[in-house]
Amino acid sequence: MSALTNVTVLGTGVLGSQIAFQAAYHGHPVVAYDLDDAALAAAKARIDQLAATYTAEVVGGAGGAAEEATGRIRLSSDLADAVQDADIVIEAVPESIDIKRETYTKLGRVAPERTIFATNSSTLLPSELAPFTGRPERFLAMHFANRIWVHNTAEIMGTQATDPDVFQAVVDLASDMGMVPIEIRKEKAGYLLNSLLVPFLSAAGELLVDGIAEPEAIDATWRIGTGAPMGPFQIYDIVGLTTAYNISAAGGPKQQAFAKLIKERYIDQGKLGVATGEGFYTYGS
Ligand code: NAD
Repeated sequence: MSALTNVTVLGTGVLGSQIAFQAAYHGHPVVAYDLDDAALAAAKARIDQLAATYTAEVVGGAGGAAEEATGRIRLSSDLADAVQDADIVIEAVPESIDIKRETYTKLGRVAPERTIFATNSSTLLPSELAPFTGRPERFLAMHFANRIWVHNTAEIMGTQATDPDVFQAVVDLASDMGMVPIEIRKEKAGYLLNSLLVPFLSAAGELLVDGIAEPEAIDATWRIGTGAPMGPFQIYDIVGLTTAYNISAAGGPKQQAFAKLIKERYIDQGKLGVATGEGFYTYGS
């Protein structure tokens, strides 16, 4: 059982709304903070949609549990008000170092001294943000995955300054929230999942660019050879080809050739992956 009860989430976009809902679903009182009334109206719509999704997809979600979770979430656009009782603030504001630094500078001034801060940043190391928090020993990364109720890992990664007791408290909170806590011992860009996934997907892209084999053959080899449910091109379709393009275009010559292939064959034809019904594969409606 975690010592952390009251959860405040900063940013109520794709991930922030999911984190807020998951914490509330597991019994935590949650305050969800965003910039203004328009953002909070969008947050309310996201939370209502999540309640419907949990009711339909999560074991035990039907029978009122999802509505009760909604009732545990309070929305606020006043930062001091949002964090006044927080045991932990989980930050999910946009992936911009300037926005995050500004957010932590303001947050450090108004949050109670005991409050732990956790960033959900996918690409920034927590040590890049720690100096702006005013409390580096009570700051770390707690990284969730999209569709949190299915992909329920919480990658927990401190800096050299993070207090081990704070790290442990966040591990316990993750378990409390129905997550599988993944303890990361040293700072690592990409955490564990992307440290494994990005080179794997790149290798598949190279095989295609070099004309070694087609996506169907590469995927079948991976599935049959390892027992994994999906091959790399099936994963590309789920991630979305625009994201795949952006990551590959920033890589070396082979990766750039793959980016060009993705753009010409797929993105320029409006084929962006599962989201548009077609990418490397075609998906039924
Ligand atoms: P998003 O754009 O969907 O949501 C960002 C939210 O932050 C919006 O509601 C916006 O109004 C709000 N916001 C903007 N400026 C703010 C400020 N100064 N203070 C408070 N709120 C502010 O973004 P997202 O996809 O939810 O990503 C948020 C964080 O989560 C990023 O750090 C990202 O790396 C991380 N993340 C995203 C995913 C993903 O799949 N989308 C997965 C894991 C982690």
